[in-house]
Amino acid sequence: MSNTNIMLMGMQNLSYDYSSLSRKYKDFINISPIQTGAVLPDESKKALDEFAIGYAPYNLAQGIEIMDIEIVKEFIYKDLPGFLGSDIARITFGARDGIYTAMRLAAKPHDTVLVDENRHYTTVLAAEKAGLNIIEAKSTGYPDYTIDADEYISLMEKHKPSLAILTYPDGNYGNLPDAKTIGEAAKENNVPFLLNCAYSIGRMPISLKRLNADFVIGSGHKSMASIGPVGVIGASEKWSEKMLKKSKYYEKNELEFLGSEIRGSSFITLMASFPYLVRRINEWDKEVAKARWFSKSLEMLGLLQLGEKPHRHDLMKFKTDIFYEISKIHPKKRTFLYEELKKNRITGIQQGRTKNIKLSTYGIEKESLKKVIEAFEKIVDTY
Ligand SMILES: *Cc1c(COP(=O)(O)O)cnc(C)c1O
Repeated sequence: MSNTNIMLMGMQNLSYDYSSLSRKYKDFINISPIQTGAVLPDESKKALDEFAIGYAPYNLAQGIEIMDIEIVKEFIYKDLPGFLGSDIARITFGARDGIYTAMRLAAKPHDTVLVDENRHYTTVLAAEKAGLNIIEAKSTGYPDYTIDADEYISLMEKHKPSLAILTYPDGNYGNLPDAKTIGEAAKENNVPFLLNCAYSIGRMPISLKRLNADFVIGSGHKSMASIGPVGVIGASEKWSEKMLKKSKYYEKNELEFLGSEIRGSSFITLMASFPYLVRRINEWDKEVAKARWFSKSLEMLGLLQLGEKPHRHDLMKFKTDIFYEISKIHPKKRTFLYEELKKNRITGIQQGRTKNIKLSTYGIEKESLKKVIEAFEKIVDTY
């Protein structure tokens, strides 16, 4: 018997208990920044169920390219660019894939790209994979951690990077730097400009044209009510020829996307959720007002909101010295905060964190957020 077969014999009763993952926290209030923008609306759950029979989108039309399907064409050629304020748009495997695509289009190996210090780590990985050098515009540091437009622009003018990348907002503090002004300067200096909108496209109105960007990228599983991995990239007309270039061997197929875009269930939920996204971005002002109210309430308990104030996004980081002090005396040590919140049917705070916490109020009812505030208050009062 070969080694493989011996291994397989031990696996005959294999099963993974994944059901507990989703059920355990089913009726919890979830304030995880990574998850609040990705909650599927009912229509999307239904679409997912309908397509849960295999190689999904091909059920729409057997045996043809996904881009030949009428409703897909309408979505990708018309509705999605309309939503992004771009001239063209395509589907990607996620924000990081979109960043990598833009880098490949705008830069060649050994070129330099400009990033902001609040960038996501995948921006750096994408640059490394594309063989690019990185220049970083520093943030102002504690407590605001803002990216100053003037400083970013002066680095851009000095180094003339092949691509300038701005995180809008960043995933640590939820800061929204002055993209429009930086975009204007990028245009004047002929520097291609990429906005990383992983935490904005699908939450708030974003327009590539209005922000003077060459590219915008979004993340389906961060902010577009989709199961991942999936993302979007929008670009201006200038990049159309390069981005949509066809294969010389297969003249129908776009080379950059290896002939076919993301297909399958992640794409289906993105498309099914799209009308819902178009509606929900109109509620953005309310979401911001709610985040500010929440931030104020936590600050009254003695926590300190980091990042821009007043805040303009639902993702927030708080410095939580009180919780750190409690963790030193609490029997549960560093996991106490997570456990205490769990008792109150609240989840989403990273386990083991007490010095600072990251959370999001997006899409959560005010009544539920009040319960979160009360839970924090109880913890502060008890210890
Ligand atoms: C999560 C995140 C990414 C990566 O997103 P994926 O869609 O998972 O690739 C990139 N940038 C920011 C700011 C993020 O928060």
